[in-house]
Amino acid sequence: MADRALEILRSVFGYPAFRTPQDEVIATLMAGEDALVLMPTGGGKSLCYQIPAMARPGTGVVVSPLIALMQDQVAALRQAGVRAAYLNSALDAAEAREVERQFLEGGLDLLYIAPERLVLERTLTLLERVPLSLFAIDEAHCVSQWGHDFRPEYMRLSILHERFPQVPRIALTATADEPTRREIAERLGLSQARRFIQSFDRPNIRYRIVQGLDSPREALLRFIRNEHAGDAGIVYCLSRKKVEDVAQWLTEKGVQALPYHAGLPAATREQNQARFINEEGWVMVATIAFGMGIDKPNVRFVAHLSLPKSIEAYYQETGRAGRDGLPANAWMSYGLQDVITLRQMMEASEADETHKRVERHKLDAMLGFCETTDCRRQALLAYFGESHDTPCGNCDTCLEPPQTWDATVAAQKALSCVHRTGQRFGVNYLIDVLRGKDEERIRQNGHDRQSTFGIGADLGVAAWRGLFRQLIARNLLNVDFEGHGALRLTPACRALLKGEAPLWLRKETSRPKTRTTRAAVRTVFASSEDQSLWDALRACRRRLAEEQGVPPYVVFHDATLMQMVEQRPHSRHELAGISGVGERKLDAYGDAFLQVLREAEFS
Ligand code: ADP
Ligand code: ZN
Repeated sequence: MADRALEILRSVFGYPAFRTPQDEVIATLMAGEDALVLMPTGGGKSLCYQIPAMARPGTGVVVSPLIALMQDQVAALRQAGVRAAYLNSALDAAEAREVERQFLEGGLDLLYIAPERLVLERTLTLLERVPLSLFAIDEAHCVSQWGHDFRPEYMRLSILHERFPQVPRIALTATADEPTRREIAERLGLSQARRFIQSFDRPNIRYRIVQGLDSPREALLRFIRNEHAGDAGIVYCLSRKKVEDVAQWLTEKGVQALPYHAGLPAATREQNQARFINEEGWVMVATIAFGMGIDKPNVRFVAHLSLPKSIEAYYQETGRAGRDGLPANAWMSYGLQDVITLRQMMEASEADETHKRVERHKLDAMLGFCETTDCRRQALLAYFGESHDTPCGNCDTCLEPPQTWDATVAAQKALSCVHRTGQRFGVNYLIDVLRGKDEERIRQNGHDRQSTFGIGADLGVAAWRGLFRQLIARNLLNVDFEGHGALRLTPACRALLKGEAPLWLRKETSRPKTRTTRAAVRTVFASSEDQSLWDALRACRRRLAEEQGVPPYVVFHDATLMQMVEQRPHSRHELAGISGVGERKLDAYGDAFLQVLREAEFS
């Protein structure tokens, strides 16, 4: 049995070996037992059910919540020569009948079905007429009412076990938190299932957070130009307006950028999404409405121009970079205004007190993560309950350790300025008072005669803004409920004011480093021959993809083309040895790519 699985991995998918724990998951299903698989994005979940579905007798039924994802997976499987199809609302009646006919004839190894369709009596009856190899429940966290992707239909999937007790089931998710895991096991009746829990680390993603920039937009542009020219990426912004502004601005600056948010007409949204997926090198500027169900493996960077509300959201959004395992960047700009906006949104939210407390806690954790001077990856994974002993060496704090300074006295000045001015003013006003600015409004309020007037002239505006940001982030100051941005003291600041607790803060760098620490991320080749071969291989891939109306990565992944550049295969036999080249693809595309490789040789 195990031999059969390995044989399929090699001949159909063209990969030499399983990753952990793929082989064990597959063995579990082959033995007819259930499995619950928690693996990060890009970990290789699909093969865990695709291969046993092919190796066991009967058809494997896959429940997947998103039409786009299903189509992508089925297209990719067919490219590899696997008999796969889907049933969802994208098919008309005649097409659906044709798929059902193939299924009834035993002509399918894998059938993808939308959850709302699967739980219909009509579908269940259909499934009873043919032997089934397994049920795979993808994106299993959709069963969780607390998560952001809740799908009511998922709650009804426990019927699968009742109706088909002998068919093994596998549930898969990339969602890390423990309550969701528990919910999945309970709701889907998988408490007895064997669990496979992988680390949620995404080692190929480099985390970077830059603080307190004058112009985050400019910094983003520099980042894209220096490190990601021509790469596909996603830029997240909080508001629709900002999405449109940034997309337009980037376009003016010569970056291929498209907007995406829920306020755009559906046709525009679809078109932009299709271009992002099917063409190369687009930057999608989007609200968080974009991303779920995007399987594009070669998204090389995810940038945040607005702060996510929680670490979960940050992890999920950045996780869309580098699914293919090649180096990728998660870049975020973050400043005083973000902190104020989010704190205000939280206070103004209509949610009940319990929910608010949870949300506040999540935001605190997110802000703490932004301000940390320790390894980002260690902090991120610690939040998900994973402890890693050594700093990662692939995040900004590891690569350029931030400097800290004793901000105790400055913080005391800031806090007493807030106090003396009556806790009614916003950051800009407070900084003006601290720096002793000659201002009409300050004089009118009599604050030029206050003891804190001018006591902070030794620090510049940027340093004060950084200080206030960190005080708010650490909950030493609070933002008012009414939304005017006035700052108030919190009980937590007492110890600091009394001088009982020293405060060490991150030093603000007025200008971010523009130099990149290492050109680790871009697909740059040592020689110009390599570069032109890479371009030629990509052109060949694009042509083949267009002919068939599939995304380029469905033909071959970047990693496969990259290996072709490195190894320069001369024959079909050598080409077959490249990871990602299975038998069907060798037949279909081998000659075209060998031709490109030969031409490169003689040019
Ligand atoms: P997930 O669903 O967990 O995000 P995928 O199933 O899409 O991940 O796999 C991520 C990438 O890893 C895909 O490009 C896939 O082809 C590749 N992959 C999966 N398993 C292997 C393997 N054993 N060897 C090489 N590549 C693999
Ligand atoms: Zn690190």
